[in-house]
Amino acid sequence: MQVLPCPFCGPRSEGEFHFAAETGKTRPDTTRDVSAEKWAAYLFDQTNEKGVTREIWIHLPCAEVFVMSRDSVTMDVLGTETLRKLPT
Ligand SMILES: [Zn+2]
Repeated sequence: MQVLPCPFCGPRSEGEFHFAAETGKTRPDTTRDVSAEKWAAYLFDQTNEKGVTREIWIHLPCAEVFVMSRDSVTMDVLGTETLRKLPT
């Protein structure tokens, strides 16, 4: 079992995490009609990049959503970034 880092809780077992999406996707504009094909593409199409990827993950116990950079070949985690705006 792999240990993944939550930017808020620290290292935790991979079973506590859920993959949410690849980064860089733009949600369809819901103020206009969105076809089923467009929704399906947004929800289910993945590029599955080989190598370094940036993905959105959720740490289920703390419910925080964050970006994880990892190598999809070696499974090495390269870093995490919060999606919160932290006070400056
Ligand atoms: Zn957490």
